[in-house]
Amino acid sequence: MTNLKLIQELTELDKKHFLHPTSPIEQQQEQGAAFIFTEGNGVHLHDLAGNTVIDGMSSLWNVNVGHGRKELGQAAMDQMSTLAFTSCFATFSNEPAIRLAEKLSHIAPGDLSATFFTSGGSEANDTAYKLARHYWILKGQENRKKIISRTKSYHGVAMGATSATGLKPFRDFTNSLAPDFCYVDHASSQSLREVIEAEGPETIAAFIAEPVQGAGGVHVAPVNYFKEVRAICDEYDILFITDEVITGFGRTGTYFGMEHYGAAPDMMCFAKGVTSGYVPLGGVMLSERIHQEFTELSKGTLLHGYTYSGHPTACAVAIRNLEIIEQEHLIANAKAMGEEMLNGFKWIQSEREIVGEVRGLGLMGGIEIVKNQHTQERFQAPLVPQIVAEAAKRGLICRSVVFDGQDTLVFAPPLVINKREMSQLIEILNDSIQAIEKGMMKGNIQ
Ligand code: PMP
Repeated sequence: MTNLKLIQELTELDKKHFLHPTSPIEQQQEQGAAFIFTEGNGVHLHDLAGNTVIDGMSSLWNVNVGHGRKELGQAAMDQMSTLAFTSCFATFSNEPAIRLAEKLSHIAPGDLSATFFTSGGSEANDTAYKLARHYWILKGQENRKKIISRTKSYHGVAMGATSATGLKPFRDFTNSLAPDFCYVDHASSQSLREVIEAEGPETIAAFIAEPVQGAGGVHVAPVNYFKEVRAICDEYDILFITDEVITGFGRTGTYFGMEHYGAAPDMMCFAKGVTSGYVPLGGVMLSERIHQEFTELSKGTLLHGYTYSGHPTACAVAIRNLEIIEQEHLIANAKAMGEEMLNGFKWIQSEREIVGEVRGLGLMGGIEIVKNQHTQERFQAPLVPQIVAEAAKRGLICRSVVFDGQDTLVFAPPLVINKREMSQLIEILNDSIQAIEKGMMKGNIQ
């Protein structure tokens, strides 16, 4: 079968049988899949049509060690051929889960020391909210139920995680949400204080925040934001949860994003980069104090657990993945290449009229598209989807964020990216934006 025939066959089957996650349905039904990927190597992905593209998003901000790592395949195979799966319910355990939990306690910020495993970030978030509420039940403060999150935040799509997500379109997608969630302005610690006061401090269980907001458009918090937030949480006796699902495991040039801010969380959600996406895994870590109080006060069964909590194969892959991150100094590389990326964005900003603010931390970057660089005025309709399409044609995958009236491109290349590949990324991006600018000069865009 020629590739063309196979592409046609798979495209028809994709339309008929595959409901894609977070995906434009109309586009899929009309044009078929944008790419049918077949192979990955380092920062590159290859598809069935013979295209090679730079994966400027590490797929979904998660393939930290890059594609095609045989070591991770080997780690999965070794574990699968001895003990692929066993449950961790009812005090059953396994060595990879124990070893990984211990390893995480050494690398995580503050005194986070005990881990509850999940299969991904949404489950990690729902788990964090439930454990926070259960903690307050144990402490005799059942009224503390509310979870506060930030505008522009993304915490996943399970019912709790959707309810905590500050990006409204995700909440509006379903017309009934979990109760007891409220929202604060994403960049103002004063807003947190105001909402706590308005809701009643004795009703608040926890505040959750991403160190750098990812899906919301790569928004880096003000320098003192998390220190102030930590102090406010302490003042009102509210648990502080960080969502490091994107920012964990080297992404921002430190092991975890919160290290940039020097604020120790009571709980931390993680997923994605823990296995670089090779197998699904996530979790929630508890600080030593919270874990100790939790275990001292708990008398019955912890009635929360997923079949795959502590999955031995997932944990074995995570252990090997963390070894790669450390042995190859990928966190230092993320820091250096992150600076390179931001400098590249600044160069594009000086070259292209429609580039407004550029920002980033480590290998998370964002670029605003504007009508006027001086006033930051935006175009009537967002331009970024067209730029993303241009970039894809030229061999670069990046992502558009158009929520809340934004017109933002976001980037998160694998931590293994080198200087030459970063230059290519910047060059393709500049060319793609230039192509749209040229289209504008022909009068196609308002
Ligand atoms: N939290 C954050 C900050 C995320 O970016 C994501 C996913 N992009 C999630 C939670 C949800 O993770 P998952 O898709 O693995 O459920």
